[in-house]
Amino acid sequence: MSHTTAALLEALGAALGADGIVTGPGIGDRYCADSTRLNVCPPLALVRPRTTAEVAAVLRLCHAAVQPVVVQGGLTGLAGGATPKTGEISLSLERLTGIESVDRDALTLTVRAGTPLAAIHEEVGRHGLQFALDLGARGSCSIGGNISTNAGGNRVIRYGMTRDLVLGLEVVLADGTVLTAMNSMMKNNAGYDLKQLFIGSEGTLGVVTRAVLRLHPAPAERLTALVAAPSFAALVAILRESRAALGGQLGSFEVMWSAYYEFSVTHSIGGQRPFAEQHPFYALIELEALEPKSDAERLEVLLARLIDAGSVTDAVIARSLADSARLWRIRESAGELLAYLQPVTAYDISMPINAMEAYIKDIERRSAPLLGKWPPFIFGHLGDGNLHIVASVASAANVAPLDAIVYGALDGFGSVSAEHGIGVLKRGYLGKSRTPVELQLMRQLKSTLDPRNILNPGRVL
Ligand code: ZN
Repeated sequence: MSHTTAALLEALGAALGADGIVTGPGIGDRYCADSTRLNVCPPLALVRPRTTAEVAAVLRLCHAAVQPVVVQGGLTGLAGGATPKTGEISLSLERLTGIESVDRDALTLTVRAGTPLAAIHEEVGRHGLQFALDLGARGSCSIGGNISTNAGGNRVIRYGMTRDLVLGLEVVLADGTVLTAMNSMMKNNAGYDLKQLFIGSEGTLGVVTRAVLRLHPAPAERLTALVAAPSFAALVAILRESRAALGGQLGSFEVMWSAYYEFSVTHSIGGQRPFAEQHPFYALIELEALEPKSDAERLEVLLARLIDAGSVTDAVIARSLADSARLWRIRESAGELLAYLQPVTAYDISMPINAMEAYIKDIERRSAPLLGKWPPFIFGHLGDGNLHIVASVASAANVAPLDAIVYGALDGFGSVSAEHGIGVLKRGYLGKSRTPVELQLMRQLKSTLDPRNILNPGRVL
């Protein structure tokens, strides 16, 4: 360790207290990679500030020493963005936690960045409210990570991305300056909306420390139905009819291709089969009920009409919370799938709905020689134009050629990342989704806000 590094670590220890910094073997395994567990690498040190002032002190010192930092939340990312690189210091927000306030009239919540998403759900639920961001990693992801990656999830069709649910932010800039923009108003057109720069920029422009979030009333009940469809065109028809019949009460519309569904019922719900037959496609529909009895009738009428029209071949409606949880488990088995298929690679692409069927057929055909014994597993958020593809490759060497097929076919009309972000894993393909002028402006913003390139260097750009 160089003299300057030792001096920096000593200064960080003085700023954070003895338990605020960990070095050497004391750094747990979990800080060495995100959920992909790719490129596992222990950081030079792990710092765990408890307050915004401590985050500012860390960045002031690292900026002065030109010391690169990787920012870590719940480490549930899938783009490699929070995985340390050699010589980086991990800045974990895991101790900067807590809900500061809930305003039931303004429908806002003020929270610290390290707070787990599930803790927010629990707290606002006590007030009859909901924070509408929801995703499979809810128990371990943190709101700061959700904000810096502009997380999507299961309710985007109704409430939008994380960006649509953030009213204000507090951010520590690369040199330790604290930018306080804790706006709590729905309408505020007073100049540039600076918070948007930090939402979805994956910690490359600043470290989110606190946020003001938008809340919504919780529905009286969530009614869940699983339907089987004979074709992709039928899936699109079900989406169209559901939107028309349920309007703003359509909370989720999630789709699964047959291979994904079959994996899930076998491995995630112990072989229980909601339907006797196999079908090519499935959709999980969630209705946010205000009047559970009459809303349940509307859902039944809708499904009956879809069956008559031939768009739905079979349907089940959850009759209890346990039923509903079981249907959601089928959709949320992606974690098990990733663990089961090794080596594996996962994509979160988006494109117009009318391009999906041809795109997927093309990918299935061209990727076949690179895959292991399973077909690609396809599922996702149809209403958002966002599909996930999980593919087991015959060998790790096949990941790069498969990336080239999946991302190459999106050139000019889709996005290489709908919701997981670019991180390090998709960096080479950013140009497939952004123009040279956009990329140039991104680089200018990066060099303006982080001139010494210490914040998550080599991520996104
Ligand atoms: Zn998703």
